[in-house]
Amino acid sequence: MSGRVQITVARSAGFCPGVKNAIDKVLELSAQRQKTIYTLGPLIHNKQVIETLREKNILAVKSAAEIKEKGAILVIRAHGIPPEEEARIRALDLEVVDATCPLVKRVQENIRAHAAKGYATIIVGDKDHAEVLGLMGYTAGRGYVVSGPEEVAGLPSLAKANIVAQTTQEPEVFQAAAAAARAVAAELNVSDTVCNPTKQRQTETVEFSKDADLVIVVGGKNSANTARLFQICERLARRAVHIEKEDELTPEIFKGARRIFITAGASTPTWMTDKVLDRARELTGRREHPLAEALTFAWKLFITGSLYTAVAASALTYVCMKLQGVPVSGKLLLMAGLFAFSLHMANRAVEKGAAAPDRARQLLFVRYRAQSRFTALLCGALAIFLSAAFGWKVFLATVFFWGVGMLYPYKLPLGLEKFGNFPASKDLVTALGWAFMCAYAPGLWYKGGMSDPTQLAAFFAFLLVFTRSVLFGVSHAHSDMIVGRENFYKAAGPRLTYFTLFSIFLLLAAVLVTLKGAGWRADLAAALLTGMLYYLGLLLFFFLGRIPERITAETLIDTQFLLLALLAHTVN
Ligand code: SF4
Repeated sequence: MSGRVQITVARSAGFCPGVKNAIDKVLELSAQRQKTIYTLGPLIHNKQVIETLREKNILAVKSAAEIKEKGAILVIRAHGIPPEEEARIRALDLEVVDATCPLVKRVQENIRAHAAKGYATIIVGDKDHAEVLGLMGYTAGRGYVVSGPEEVAGLPSLAKANIVAQTTQEPEVFQAAAAAARAVAAELNVSDTVCNPTKQRQTETVEFSKDADLVIVVGGKNSANTARLFQICERLARRAVHIEKEDELTPEIFKGARRIFITAGASTPTWMTDKVLDRARELTGRREHPLAEALTFAWKLFITGSLYTAVAASALTYVCMKLQGVPVSGKLLLMAGLFAFSLHMANRAVEKGAAAPDRARQLLFVRYRAQSRFTALLCGALAIFLSAAFGWKVFLATVFFWGVGMLYPYKLPLGLEKFGNFPASKDLVTALGWAFMCAYAPGLWYKGGMSDPTQLAAFFAFLLVFTRSVLFGVSHAHSDMIVGRENFYKAAGPRLTYFTLFSIFLLLAAVLVTLKGAGWRADLAAALLTGMLYYLGLLLFFFLGRIPERITAETLIDTQFLLLALLAHTVN
């Protein structure tokens, strides 16, 4: 097959927010409490992820009666449960943790409120699905489940009815059922409760399936939302297959397919979709040369091992020194590189193995987690040691910022929330740490205080690094890390994120254009302004194009610092 084969992976592929939060919650509990965590039913309908969770001592039980330990932790999964069942398990000697998706809770509350006003409930969904069973518990005994419009005619006549959808329902099926329900209910309240992540996933699937020769739907065979997605694809695409793992793909499946679309259910992690993508590339003849593969692996190791981050931090320090008119100090460049390397390495070492599809990450942070932590500590200690040569102010500030960065992923003493739980904390902590190391430290050392050029350089560095961190968040959100961090993208959503990033670009450009009189050299500001075009291109790339996978994203993002350093170097 020729290289003209086009393979597109759905942007919406990967865990939905509800599933992601539930998984985050149990993983966090498992790490903090070091004991078996029970979930009421499988957390998600995906055998491979369930297997991974079982290895971490997170076990699914059908009912609370199966748990023999007193005080054990029992997690209510994203689908939710009926209120009577919740009351029953809360009365047992168990610690109950509710991971019901907020969007499912909203449906439960909708049903409860209408039921209290005398409305019967019609749920458009799968009658045996856990979410629907949970919703039925809120109907005050006056609930009916229909799979679609054709079953509505079988309902009794109702004086007042509230029709809702299972959150993963097809919007068209729900609307058709609602239209049919007008014939059986004298008064009908229509509550479209299909959740937005489901709508986005289905809209994208419809759009791409229409033009595809082949659609590959990845997800558990027992997952209702994956099955629904597959039905849509079967209807629209020339050919569609539903697989759980990449090894189900055969060369025959790809015969004659030029446009291939890969999508996945809400409970399919992106690392599984990535493996399917790799296998599809292999079977369509898009395999790379062994040398190219070896070089890619080496590059991944370089990026994954945080070395490129260290180079980027040194490059930004170089730019900030130039901006402030501080003589370039190799020791400071090294110190900044070690500082960034140490924190990056330490933070990555706490990432969970199931989120690591590629060999480079498996090699560095999963198999050698203890060694990664040791290296992070060693490099941090070296950065602090070097900082002592630049005066006590730089030394104390280095200790402070490094300490905050190291504590970021961990729970604080005295029952305080960990930094990582605060919205956008990851981006702010990273930007502050780098702004100090790259701009303040040189200024403090050479000028002894906070001169105007130092303040401006720090502001410049802060905004650039904040943008870097937010863009990482965007690419990580897409690549579906099992352990989520509270990054800006997660808190603000796509629109506000891109609005903020484009605003930051304008602000950075304005700083360079208008504030050069504050001690910055005009030719340097002009050179950096040229470099900002890369920044703009990067933003547009993320905003308009496909979000690249993690390694490519990190390479593209950190390259901007090297480019700025190169431009700063050309101005003498
Ligand atoms: S499909 Fe929607 S409602 Fe259901 S868990 Fe995911 S985000 Fe929540």
